[in-house]
Amino acid sequence: MTEGIVIRRTTLPSGDVVATLLSEHGKWRAVARKGRLPGGNLGRLSLFHDVTVQYYRKHDDDLALLTQVKLNGALPNLTAPEIYPYAHLLAELTDALTVDVHLGEKVYAYLASGLRGLNRHPDPDLVALAYAWKLLGLAGLAPRTDACTHCGAREPLVALDVAAGGLTCRDCGRGLPVGQDGAAELRRLVDGELRTALARPPLDRELHWRLLTHYVGYHVRELRSLAGRGRPAAPAAGG
Ligand SMILES: [Zn+2]
Repeated sequence: MTEGIVIRRTTLPSGDVVATLLSEHGKWRAVARKGRLPGGNLGRLSLFHDVTVQYYRKHDDDLALLTQVKLNGALPNLTAPEIYPYAHLLAELTDALTVDVHLGEKVYAYLASGLRGLNRHPDPDLVALAYAWKLLGLAGLAPRTDACTHCGAREPLVALDVAAGGLTCRDCGRGLPVGQDGAAELRRLVDGELRTALARPPLDRELHWRLLTHYVGYHVRELRSLAGRGRPAAPAAGG
């Protein structure tokens, strides 16, 4: 028996469902055979659900076969069309950050906390932005925000050099212009306490979604949930 959050879910042509689960012990994939989940339905294995599963696998390299799925908690608001894209972003980013690496219990805790935040916070847009930067930080990918990443000057920091991985000063002048306010806001999102970041939302949201999208695209990979304008895209049909 093990507990986890469903971060990816694919329905095969056969009707079987392959789910990727993130638990405190890492990430793993399992299959649920259509019509062979005793007393259960595949709906319990929906995206973002927190589940306890029973499974077995014949050999180490086999996909685990789920024999039982128990729902510990669903966060009902995550399926709302205005919130789903943000939940999808956090799940997809977590998935991308844990390819071949185990980031430990903390990534599970952050994702769980981020999803709970999206479920109840009045500003899911801000919750997603803040948690996305925190997840990047957990993976050791946070941009440098305390000084110019080229010359080390403390101020004025006015741009984000995505490739170099940090803010830059006016003299170095490299990267995407963010202005001094934007730089201070990014520092708060990246290095501040979550509570502080959530208490003081950035003024120019579009700018911050653009920064996150560029940064993730360069340092992690292009995410489906960030395709397009920068803000998470509306859910794709099916899933
Ligand atoms: Zn500089």
